[in-house]
Amino acid sequence: MNKVIAGIDIGGTKIAIALETLEGEKIGARRLPSEVEIGAYRIFGKISQAITEMLEENQVELVSVGIGCPSPLDIEKGLVMSPANLPDWDNFPIVKLFQDRFRVPVILDNDANAAMLGEYVYGAGRGFKNVVYITVSTGVGGGIIINGEIIHGVANGAGELGHTIVQPDGGAHCNCGSTGCLETICAGIHIARRAKERLEAGEPSLINEMVSNINEVTAKTVIEAVRRKDKLATEIWTETCRFLAIGVGNIITLIAPEAVIIGGSVALAGELLFKPLRLYLPEFVSMIPLEKVAIVPAELGGESGVCGALVLAKRSYKNLYQIHAI
Ligand SMILES: [Zn+2]
Repeated sequence: MNKVIAGIDIGGTKIAIALETLEGEKIGARRLPSEVEIGAYRIFGKISQAITEMLEENQVELVSVGIGCPSPLDIEKGLVMSPANLPDWDNFPIVKLFQDRFRVPVILDNDANAAMLGEYVYGAGRGFKNVVYITVSTGVGGGIIINGEIIHGVANGAGELGHTIVQPDGGAHCNCGSTGCLETICAGIHIARRAKERLEAGEPSLINEMVSNINEVTAKTVIEAVRRKDKLATEIWTETCRFLAIGVGNIITLIAPEAVIIGGSVALAGELLFKPLRLYLPEFVSMIPLEKVAIVPAELGGESGVCGALVLAKRSYKNLYQIHAI
């Protein structure tokens, strides 16, 4: 019977599952709604049922499982610890449950690290040894791979670029409890917040005509208004790109990576984001030759997490520590 690995990407709204042979051939994929209201154990039941069906349909044998899941996690103990979007997953023993059900090794990591691994092996990070991954979406997350290994750090806290402080005085309050984090400028919800504050203060903008109610303004609205050359939106966007350049510049100075991969819904703005970012970076990086650092968009979109979960599974099966070797 052909041996396969399973990757599971758990998010607040959907769960993606993929099966792949050890030779790298994808043989099945499913998406399930997260249905947070039915509780962690019943969601686990649905995921394992889907995997069982996929194994039977393809007449294959499962040899390992990789899981990407929102933080906080206790990776060593294999526990999920009440992430904001999965509130009742408290001390949820996800690794043990899958181990008991399928009798195979199971490895867990956070969703940002899984997405980074996906990009590293299958996407924009292919061929590099040292990469930084940043996701600019509802929040700002990230991760670091050095010589093919994910840097986890104390309490698995490494790589949280979104919570580096870029506005020490008068910065906005952040979900992490701090103020002035990079996330409070660049995250989608904060781009929208800054636009709303100025619109509510009566500043003129095309955005007023694009929405029926100021509360409908999202980062996407602001980006669309930038494309239409709106002054207010352009000022907010310029500030966003400039602060992102501070954050990205600082991590380039610290890590000297070969590539910085930027994903997430805000990064879908494409060159509208990358062009000013590349323009501002030299102002904030003096020690590293920037022409040697690729600043590139993520390539896998919504698939990066499940692809990374497959890499985790393969790594677990082969017991490899050098991810780039597989
Ligand atoms: Zn923060």
